[in-house]
Amino acid sequence: MWSMHFLEYGVIRKKGEHRIALVYPNVYKAGNSNLGFLFAYNFINEQEGFQCERFFTDFPKSIESNSILADFDIIAFSCSFEMDYFTVYEIAQKFPDKMKILGGRSAYNPFPLKGVIDYIFVGDAEQSLEEFLNQYRDGELSDIEGVFTGCEDRVKAGFSQLEYHPVHQPIQWGEYTQAFYRSFLLEVSRGCSRQCSFCMVSHCIGRKRERPLDHIQGILEEAETCTKFETVSLIGPDSHSNLLEIIDICHPYRISLPSLRIEQISEEILRSADLRTVTIAPESSERLRISLGKRITDEEILKKVRLCSEHAHWIKLYFMVGLPGETSRDLQDIVDLTRQVSRIMRTKVTISPFVPKPHTPCADHEYSTKTVEKALSYLKNRIRFSGPPARSGFIQWAISTGNEQVTPYLRTRRYSAWRNLDLSLMEKKWKRVEV
Ligand code: SF4
Repeated sequence: MWSMHFLEYGVIRKKGEHRIALVYPNVYKAGNSNLGFLFAYNFINEQEGFQCERFFTDFPKSIESNSILADFDIIAFSCSFEMDYFTVYEIAQKFPDKMKILGGRSAYNPFPLKGVIDYIFVGDAEQSLEEFLNQYRDGELSDIEGVFTGCEDRVKAGFSQLEYHPVHQPIQWGEYTQAFYRSFLLEVSRGCSRQCSFCMVSHCIGRKRERPLDHIQGILEEAETCTKFETVSLIGPDSHSNLLEIIDICHPYRISLPSLRIEQISEEILRSADLRTVTIAPESSERLRISLGKRITDEEILKKVRLCSEHAHWIKLYFMVGLPGETSRDLQDIVDLTRQVSRIMRTKVTISPFVPKPHTPCADHEYSTKTVEKALSYLKNRIRFSGPPARSGFIQWAISTGNEQVTPYLRTRRYSAWRNLDLSLMEKKWKRVEV
């Protein structure tokens, strides 16, 4: 591992009385490009008396000082994906006596980790994490809004107005890969004002809030003194209404727009951002897409793709299968749209099982591994795509909507063990989280 040339700019090396190990329960490539993880890394290190160092599954010793987990006072997990719970569980079992905390997008249902993690930060953690660290330093921990310990009847998810942004982002310049190549992640907005019924962003993270342009400019100027990058990745599921101005602020850096909304694709944006790849999420057929709240027709998508073909090299399409109300006609429509798009430009397709998420109008939909398997095999015979298998969708569903009855299953990733779980009999405790 270390034989590869490893070179990072933007690392924080700090000594503090209280040492926190920040674990991303997956590989460096994914975690070191995760904004929530970088948020925790910066935020904790900025608090007086605290020192925070990074761990990944392919870096079992801390990057900052080669320390082991046992050397730290607290193990903090930053976790965005349900399938990473296995690693969280495994590490937590190894350190029964150490304090363990967790935050991230998957924590809107904290119940599967009840009893495994001592303090779970639900929702935006800007306020709750600061309060927690202050209390910890003072040696007395009491109830904090937005923090779940398993004793509360209800927990209110944290909500932030985006005052804070991490600027010390360790960026890889060696041979080690990172999901966003030599990129500074700039969060331009959070939340979404749309209400697509399958999506957690608007239903959990809340309505869209945008960072003001002068704030964005300030973040970038500060980042230039803290780390080194050649691309700025603009992060925000609903993008920003002043996208062109932001692109202008970010020049001369290369721009990446991983969450550009279809409606925002324009000649001007494509020209000024100089994108190699454009990502579009048609989700499903036109009929299902519109009925689930994403009001874009196939014709509009094709129009945007034609425009992209004049400026970008690749288009990436994201679909889901197993959505409520899906028929074979919808699957055929996915095939037709994909074929039409790939006739226009080079296309990569990802198709994932639809996983019902807590707090969304689709939360009560029952996942069927059989239905998803059938849909994926129908598509596999007609188009080329990548994506996780149907069985992993079942496990994600159990973790995202289940309760503490799911916890013992986290010992194994084997589907044969999970398939016996009957979620229809399980109390939907995630409803005790107020979003
Ligand atoms: S799918 Fe996209 S547009 Fe719809 S609510 Fe989610 S983030 Fe917003």
